[in-house]
Parts: sequence; structure tokens; C-alpha cells
Amino acid sequence: VKLPAIRNEPMYSYAPGSVERRKLAEAIKEIRDHGPYEVPVVIDGKPVKTGQLEEQRNPSDHQHVVCRYHNATDPALVTQAVEGALRAKESWETLPLYDRLAVMMRAADLLATKYRYKLMAATMLGQGKNVWQAEIDAAAEAVDFLRFNCKFAEEIYAHQPPENSAGSWNHVEYRPLEGFVFAVSPFNFTAIAANLCGAPAVMGNVVVWKPSPSAILSNYFMYQVFEEAGLPAGVIQFVPGPAAEMAQQLFARPDFAGLHFTGSTVVFKGMWKTIAQHIDTYHAYPRIVGETGGKNFHLIHSTAPVRSTAIQTIRAAFEYQGQKCSACSRCYAPKSKWPEFKEHLLTEHGRITVGPVDDFSHFMTAVINRPSFDKITKFIDHARAADDCEIIAGGTYDDSKGYFIQPTIIVTTNPQTKTMTDEIFGPVLTILVYDDNDGATESWRKAIDLINTTGTYGLTGAIFATDRLAIVDATSRLRHTAGNFYINDKCTGAVVGQQSFGGARNSGTNDKAGSANLLYRFVSPRSVKETF
Ligand code: GLU
Repeated sequence: VKLPAIRNEPMYSYAPGSVERRKLAEAIKEIRDHGPYEVPVVIDGKPVKTGQLEEQRNPSDHQHVVCRYHNATDPALVTQAVEGALRAKESWETLPLYDRLAVMMRAADLLATKYRYKLMAATMLGQGKNVWQAEIDAAAEAVDFLRFNCKFAEEIYAHQPPENSAGSWNHVEYRPLEGFVFAVSPFNFTAIAANLCGAPAVMGNVVVWKPSPSAILSNYFMYQVFEEAGLPAGVIQFVPGPAAEMAQQLFARPDFAGLHFTGSTVVFKGMWKTIAQHIDTYHAYPRIVGETGGKNFHLIHSTAPVRSTAIQTIRAAFEYQGQKCSACSRCYAPKSKWPEFKEHLLTEHGRITVGPVDDFSHFMTAVINRPSFDKITKFIDHARAADDCEIIAGGTYDDSKGYFIQPTIIVTTNPQTKTMTDEIFGPVLTILVYDDNDGATESWRKAIDLINTTGTYGLTGAIFATDRLAIVDATSRLRHTAGNFYINDKCTGAVVGQQSFGGARNSGTNDKAGSANLLYRFVSPRSVKETF
């Protein structure tokens, strides 16, 4: 082992008057004063201006254009990106592991220090994160992904079959995939973009990267960090472009070797179907790795501490406006504790302010863009009109300046009502109050069964209880409903190196971001036996 010990990147509090707060405020001002930035496509390390300009706007202030970016609408350019990447692969994949790790470790250090505030500022203004959410994402988690992936890569390469028989010598060679990886990253985490590109690349692969149109600026800065860290030109190609057309084109190529995706279930399934149609074309079965939707739950037992459970529920539902795949959007609360729980929920809800990112004070900001605003507010309107739902907090919205939606709490009597089953991806929490007969096993199991039979996702979930038998029962019976399962903690906020992240069912291929498991998907091992 040659790497230094890897630990999670420490986080700052950004207290008023602190150095960090001042530096971050300067970075925000710099982006505002300098902008709108002009972001090119980058192929083989060279900027390409296609002239097909699109805009990324500030969700809290939709008149503010954060950047204009060149879209790669010409298929010939996409072809050029793949061909350049495959040329870069020849030297990248033959580099000793430690040279690749050195690039990624340096990228992590640059991100943690020199570019920390710049990346955070771009994530705040462009993707609507408040300061603490931006710190968790663009500073801490992005750095952690890059560093921990180095550690996992080192462990994988060190892992060899233990047995050698007399006169023979065995080893495993962890070869990168034969071809290129297509990475499609989401708007909601700058860190996820770093991982979608960084994980395949650290294992020696080359990546054609399509960033989200709603995260272009932070993602471009991330690309520049890789470049400054010494990543050879062409290993990661930065290609904003039309998703569907690019996918059609790339999946038709024989050298398509892997998809690394985070986004919606519908888009991922569509991609998988297209890949299936081309299965006879490929050199090898492509690796398909995706993290998609969720309909994550909090299940509360009558023995749970009420106030802290209410706080965790509010945080899980409304941090980053509920735009985390892991966000809590359905909650099952026991009737015996409901009046008390409701009171705490409403108290905490009352403390939430919704506003722009720049003044560092709001718990919530705007949702990402017009389509999201429209989709989320339709769910709220639906609940307002439904006989089986009551909106007990929030329910209002205003898009005159930014895409602001108040945190909304719905109580329903119908476990299968729309807001209980469909992914909303916004600040809307629906609660079902279940009859708990003071914690009886039978009623606890009924609530568990409801979770197991509602919807089709399996990403995250949390149970809150002090009764150990109830905890054990729920943990065992909720086996397939959450790839990330929390006991007495909220269902969001997985930490790289501590809780690897991913779900099954319609939530993805569960290859666990932040673990060696993910990196194994981007190698095609060769077993070598030599006899003497
Ligand atoms: N890893 C994040 C969490 O645990 C969620 C990632 C996502 O939204 O895709 O909260």
C-alpha cells in the first residue's frame, strides 16, 4: 500500500465572520461579476465552440444567466470525442496504477483547497444549493469520491487469488473495458458528476461525459480541475449535448463498453432498451450501471423519540428542496404519537425559510428549473383537490423571480394516493397515520407490509424506534425496499467510505457508489496462470 491514509474531507461551518465565509462570498461575487461564462465543449483538451448556444440560469433568479454553453449538436463532433478518447486510452490504460492515482489524488487536493469555493459558488448559483448543501456536495463528497476511489482501486489491484500450486503462478490483471464509457450526470450533485467520470477513469477507462444542462458551470469547473491535476487530454471528454441523440449515436457503436448513469428511471430504461437493440454490435457485453429514482420512506414506531424524529424527517424531506434521489417523500407515523409528532413537524416546518442562495441564511432555495417547478406544483394541486389528502403545511409556490415552492406536508388516509407512490423530486412530504395499537407487533407489521407493497422503488428508507424487537423485525422484513437503510437516522446523506450508496428495484443497478463494488464494474479481469 502506497497511498496515504484516506479520511473524509472535513467540513466548515461558514459562520458569520469566518475566513471560509468570506472566501465563498468572494467566489460568488466573482461568478456574478464575471458571468455569464461561455463554456465550450472540450475534446482532446481543446475547447470547441459549436455556436449552438444554450443557457444555464440561476434557479432562484431566472433572469440571471449563469453561463452560456456550446452544445454538441453535430454528430461528427461526438464521433470525434469518442475517437479522441480511444486514442488517449492507449497510453492512459497502460500507465502504472500509481500514476493514475496521482492524478486523481491531486484533483481531490485541488478541489479541497484552491478550487473549493469556486466549485461551491457554481453549485450554489447554478444548481440552487444553499451553503451547507454545497459544502456537503461540491467540497466534501466530490473530494471523498476521488480520494476513496483511489483507495478502492489500490485494494482491487492488490487483491489476488491466494493459491498457487507447485510449479505454477497465478495472478489477476484488472484490465479496463475494451472501448469507451458514456457518463451521463445529473444536476443535483456536482459530486456525482465527479464520480461518474472519475470511477471509470481511475480504473484506466476513457469517458465521454455528458453533463446535465442544469449543472454546466460547476461541471465545467470540475473538468478543469481534472485537467489541472494532469489528466491527459482525451481521457475525459466534456461534451454537453442533446441527451437522446447522443445516446442513440453512442449506443450504436461497437466500441461502446459501458454506461455510467444517474438520472430518471424512465430515461435509464429507455437507454437500456436501445443498448439491447444493438447487442450484436458490441465487442463485449457493455457494463450498464445506473442510479435512478426513489420513493424513500420514514417509518416511525411509537417508541421513537418524537422531537428528534420530526427534525430528521423535515431534514430528509426538505434539504436541497427534496431534490435528492434519497429524499424522504413518504412517512408512516403511529396514531398514538401523531398529535405530538405533528406539533413538532409544524414547529420545525415553521422555522424553514425559502429564499435565494447568496445571503447564506435560507434552509431552502428554489427548485432547479421550469419543468421541475411545473411537475412538482402539479402534485401539490392534485393533493389539494383529492378527497383523501389534506395539506397541513406549505402548499404555495411562486415563480415570479425564481422557482420557489414552499415545503409542503400532506396527510393522507390512502396509502396508495399519488403522492405516496410516485417520485416527485421536490419539497413534498406525504404522511400516512397508521393505527398502531400502542406499538403492537401486528400493527407494526402492517405498516411494514404497506411499505413493501407501495410503489416500485428501493433506494433509501429509515426506521425510528427504541424497541429493539421492532427494529430487528423491520430491518429483516424491509430487506428489498432500501439499498440504503437507516436506523434512527434520516434517509439522506450517505457518506463516501461510510455508507456506500445505491438501490435496487426501479432505483438502479445497486452497484454502490463510494465502494470498490462500483469500480469492479469498470474492469474486465484476466486470470493469468503461468507454469514453470
Ligand atoms: N447520496 C445522496 C444521499 O445519500 C443522494 C444522491 C442522489 O440524490 O442521487 O443523500
